[in-house]
Parts: sequence; structure tokens; C-alpha cells
Amino acid sequence: MRNTLIAGNWKMNGSLESVTALVDGIKAGDRGNAELAVCPPSVYLMKIGGMLADTGIALGAQNVCQHESGAYTGEIAASMLKEAGCRYAIVGHSERRSIYGESDEMVAARFQMAIENNIEPILCIGETLEERQQDKTIDVVYRQIDAALAASGIEAFAKSVIAYEPVWAIGTGQVATPEQAQAVHASIRQKLAALNADIADQVQILYGGSMNPGNAADLLSQPDIDGGLIGGASLKADDFLAIAQAA
Ligand code: PEP
Repeated sequence: MRNTLIAGNWKMNGSLESVTALVDGIKAGDRGNAELAVCPPSVYLMKIGGMLADTGIALGAQNVCQHESGAYTGEIAASMLKEAGCRYAIVGHSERRSIYGESDEMVAARFQMAIENNIEPILCIGETLEERQQDKTIDVVYRQIDAALAASGIEAFAKSVIAYEPVWAIGTGQVATPEQAQAVHASIRQKLAALNADIADQVQILYGGSMNPGNAADLLSQPDIDGGLIGGASLKADDFLAIAQAA
């Protein structure tokens, strides 16, 4: 039986004052039975890690460098994220792939660095609208998973989370139907099951893309949707908690 994970990706939003208030709001509210994680901008990780101590709410980073240390201006090492108290690190978010040119191979190297440092990568995969219209959705998500499999092997997925995020649904208000999302999630699990049935059965596969309190229950009721990676709706404590309660 897989637990439901609701993870908030705050992206580059907020201020010290607003993120502190957001954490206070999440801590004070009813989160139902879901596991929660928040991924704040990196400059706030230490502060928020302290605020989350003993709450059971996990801390995540929005990315992790593929190198151990050295001359990589602007990047953050996995060992540093570990020191900051991160359990998770998002890798391969579509904004990193499309705006910053992160390739499947680079994402896979970041995934591997997280694994080596005992940080659970949240591997984001998903197709563009054009790729969906050309019926390439499964090819694309399989290619993105194959890169991580090549770098880290199937065993790494025992300590990883996958987030299926159709690019056309991120931040657009256009959500995949529960049936569309379920079909892709089932295909992802099937692919992993061909390599290791136990790992495929236990890996949490989150849906991301305009999930909100109004659509969360239908998405989360699908058998292969094990939670959500939430962007916009994670910036309001009440909405984030309502999604958790919908699980
Ligand atoms: C995301 O960026 O991971 C995301 C799912 O964003 P939104 O919920 O705003 O679509």
C-alpha cells in the first residue's frame, strides 16, 4: 500500500515574511492522512527546515547539482542540501528542462547525485502539448525514465519519487483528466515492473499540473496516482491542505 505524498513546489515565489507565514499556516492546519513536503526557494531551506523540525512535514529542494563540489557558480551540492535537512530534491522539472536547457542526461546525473547522498529525487517527466498531439507521450516519458535508469539502475527507484507532469498542464489551469493521467501513470509503473515488480509496486508516482482543491479528489482516487506535485496551489496554506485532505 503506497502512502499519498502531497509536495509543494514554491518555485521562485515569496519573501521571508510570506514563506514563514505559509509554513505556519500549513503546520497549524489539518493535513488529513497524506504525507506532506514543501520545496521552498533554496535561500529559505535552512530557515524552513528549522520550522519543520518534529512536524513530520518533509523539506525538499527544487534542484540539485550533478557535481559533488567545485567551480559551479549558482549550483547547490547534494551534500549541502542534506545538511539543510532535505529529504527530497526535485530533478528535471520542465522549467529546468525548457528554460535552462537541462537534458535527459544532465537530469539523470542530478538524479544520481541525489541518490548517492541519500536524498530522494522527485524525478519530473512529461510531454509537451505538441508531443501529446503527435501521440508521443509514452515515448517521451519512457525516454526520460530510461536516462535515469541508465545512470542509476532500477534499484534507485526504491528511494525515488516520480512526478508525471504534462508540460501543457503546468501553470496553465488546464488539467489532465483523471483518465489521461491514470493511463500514463499505469504505463510508467508497467515499464518499471518489467525490471522489478516490487519496486514498481512501491514507487510513488505523483501527478503535477494545475492540481487544485477542486480537481484533487478525482485525480487522487485513481489507482496509480499516489499524490501530487503542486505549484500554484501550494502557495496558499488552505489550498495546499485542502488538496492533502482530498487524498
Ligand atoms: C509544477 O510546476 O510542478 C506544477 C505542477 O505547477 P502548477 O500546479 O502551478 O501547475
